[in-house]
Amino acid sequence: MRALVIHAAGDLRLEDVAPEVLGYGEIRLRLARGGICGSDLHYYTHGGFGAVRLREPMILGHEVSAHVVELGPGVTGFTEGQLVAVSPSRPCGACRYCQEGLPNHCLNMRFYGSAMPFPHIQGAFREELIADAAQCVDATGLAPGVAAMAEPLAVVLHATSRAGQMMGKRVLVTGCGPIGALAILCARRAGAAEIVATDLSDFTLSMAQLCGADRVVNMADEPDGLAEYAGQKGYFDVLYECTGVASALGQGIAALRPRGVILQLGLGGDMTLPMTAITAKELELRGSFRFHAEFATGVELMRKGLIDVAPLITQSLPLSEAEAAFRIASDRSRAMKAQIIFAQD
Ligand SMILES: [Zn+2]
Ligand SMILES: [Zn+2]
Repeated sequence: MRALVIHAAGDLRLEDVAPEVLGYGEIRLRLARGGICGSDLHYYTHGGFGAVRLREPMILGHEVSAHVVELGPGVTGFTEGQLVAVSPSRPCGACRYCQEGLPNHCLNMRFYGSAMPFPHIQGAFREELIADAAQCVDATGLAPGVAAMAEPLAVVLHATSRAGQMMGKRVLVTGCGPIGALAILCARRAGAAEIVATDLSDFTLSMAQLCGADRVVNMADEPDGLAEYAGQKGYFDVLYECTGVASALGQGIAALRPRGVILQLGLGGDMTLPMTAITAKELELRGSFRFHAEFATGVELMRKGLIDVAPLITQSLPLSEAEAAFRIASDRSRAMKAQIIFAQD
């Protein structure tokens, strides 16, 4: 069985790894699709991000769909050949935060493909994966690539629930990679009246338009493109900040009206904040990190046709061309979500 293993920055290898033993409550899966995420790209291009560094070889990947091969003892409700979306969120269920109903803050989280803990948590980019039945969500009827979008969708659904009431709100999205594009879809689904999106790339902004943004602004061409929203103490009720860049956050804050809510999704390291504006406009700064229950919600919304992520999948390459897929995924002039095909349907 082959797996995609990162050894160091720029050192990505397709390696043979030993198959795992199927245990109680687990399902043996044949991987279908794997989406390349910003964090996978960071390991590939920089060997990590911030203080998180690769210290041993690690299988990448956490955005996956798969077909059921074999049920372990104690598992019911799945059938051989069934397509499932596999949640990479594996909280312990026993620590204080799990007990409080905050599993995304689990103290013993084993999120796929993460070098935060040591030993690192091995990821899901492998031809065969053993997962807990509880991680598998029925994705029957979805295309395998669409099912593999459940993870980034869950991230944005979690942020959207952190925003509170969305009906009739005016929303600004800064940064239109996959997370920003999904923010447009989720905010609209939750009732946003107006959505404006910014980025530096015309390609990603064209995708934002496809997702239903009312207006897009290329901040490279129009550095003052948000200035018109800053008058009378601002315009937007909600900001999805998806860049992690201080200047984007600062421009977004200037365009937020009093009591507006900032959803910080972009992770770009620590940054300086315009604290005077946050204080004087009584803004609320809310972080958002990962998800748990929203994973199944996202699959359900997609299966019912209420959120369509298919246009965001811009490239699909076979496992043998995985390195090319990583290079394409980092090219913001032509890639939104690049995926790896682990097995043909
Ligand atoms: Zn991801
Ligand atoms: Zn826990």
